[in-house]
Amino acid sequence: MSKKILVWFRNDLRLHDNEMLVEAIAKSDSILPVYILDRRSFGDTKYGTLKTGNIRAQFLLESVLGLRNALKQIGGNLLIAEGKPEDIIPQLVQEYEITEVYHHREVAREETHISTLVENALWKLRVNLKHFIGHTLYNKEDLPFPIKDIPDAFNQFKKKIERDSMIKPCFAAPDRINVAEVIDWGMLPALEDLNLLPQQKDQRADFEFAGGEAEGLVHLQKVIMAMQQAATTKNLILASKLSAWLAIGSLSPRKVYWEIKKMESVPNTKAMFNHILLGLLWRDYFRFMFKKYGNTFFNPDGFGSQGLVDVANEQDNFNKWRNAQTGFAVVDAVMTELNQTGFISNIARQTAALYLINNLEVSWVLGAAYFEEKLIDYNPASNWGNWANVAGVGNDQKSKSVFDLDKNIKNLDPKGNYAITWAS
Ligand SMILES: Cc1cc2nc3c(=O)[nH]c(=O)nc-3n(C[C@H](O)[C@H](O)[C@H](O)COP(=O)(O)OP(=O)(O)OC[C@H]3O[C@@H](n4cnc5c(N)ncnc54)[C@H](O)[C@@H]3O)c2cc1C
Repeated sequence: MSKKILVWFRNDLRLHDNEMLVEAIAKSDSILPVYILDRRSFGDTKYGTLKTGNIRAQFLLESVLGLRNALKQIGGNLLIAEGKPEDIIPQLVQEYEITEVYHHREVAREETHISTLVENALWKLRVNLKHFIGHTLYNKEDLPFPIKDIPDAFNQFKKKIERDSMIKPCFAAPDRINVAEVIDWGMLPALEDLNLLPQQKDQRADFEFAGGEAEGLVHLQKVIMAMQQAATTKNLILASKLSAWLAIGSLSPRKVYWEIKKMESVPNTKAMFNHILLGLLWRDYFRFMFKKYGNTFFNPDGFGSQGLVDVANEQDNFNKWRNAQTGFAVVDAVMTELNQTGFISNIARQTAALYLINNLEVSWVLGAAYFEEKLIDYNPASNWGNWANVAGVGNDQKSKSVFDLDKNIKNLDPKGNYAITWAS
């Protein structure tokens, strides 16, 4: 019997630096690349928010189509199905006589639960689900400590990992692929089929995100060019805006690292290199913390006890905040930018979070759920991990005292222009 491997794409929508894909091609006669659109990712949450809003949904659809196009260019295709992976994958395994299924391991509860359901269903068919690791800069196996001993304090984590661990080179993107014979490769639904409306472009936005690996790689090159230019102009833009592609896996963190590393020796670029690297380390840190502690990050009291919640006015205050109607200009500007574009800077995220938690006395989990709906770069570990930290219920107790709303506002909007630009 010929060996056929089903490659289940999730948040890893790329050909470059994709060990799962490289191994599937090497170890099989043909592969079946599959993406499953699961309606459970588009429903309501218990907080009265959506799991995925229109801006990220659009980015996701573009990213999946980008993957299909990339696979077509090397002689393949992507089977697109709609439904529950635990139902669809076993059906495909039987229909195409699949011998093994590959996927990337996730860390948050809903995603890992779905993997377990798929694994159980496949066991009944005596087919193995092989787990790969490909979301982080540092591989779990290469850490100088087991997951349970990873330091809770970010600074210690950073120090140890940088001293005792190494970042692997990227896997090359395959240039040829042999896929199973499929009659109907399937179609993606339109945004409207997901009960979502397209977002109108806001003229105030200085950046437009387009989903897909090709677009992510182009943007990465723009970041490199900006670093090059900074060598002469000294006009350094620190924030890379790479997060949306990283979150959906159209860019691998290793790819970003090795590309920006080429610039390390160029004069005046060190600050940007260090800034992006620091961000990637925070990203790894939250992912590893999710692996270590799991669901605690979704609990309002987290690793401590959340502050005062004004229960009587909570819903009202939450609505004002999310609708950019608090009356506090900078916070309303932040929320308008978020609602209109799906992206706000790190300092803007912290500002909105601090105001919700401390000034409006709303439970931070409502804010985290709203960011989950709205952010184009949402990923569970980075979002819920950062929110828990800002709320002072994260596992790194040292980061409790570093947040200061007044200081943030001075940095975010020193001359008041931001609040004017994004006045709703
Ligand atoms: C309340 C709150 C919620 C957040 N939710 C998310 C989220 O859902 N998804 C997300 O990717 N980031 C989240 N962040 C982290 C951070 O704000 C964004 O990653 C960053 O603003 C993206 O912009 P950039 O690509 O220009 O980042 P850069 O500053 O250029 O950093 C490079 C990359 O490092 C990663 N990164 C940077 N800072 C952080 C951080 N603090 N935590 C985790 N990763 C980081 C991102 O992948 C980013 O693209 C959140 C921060 C806060 C305070």
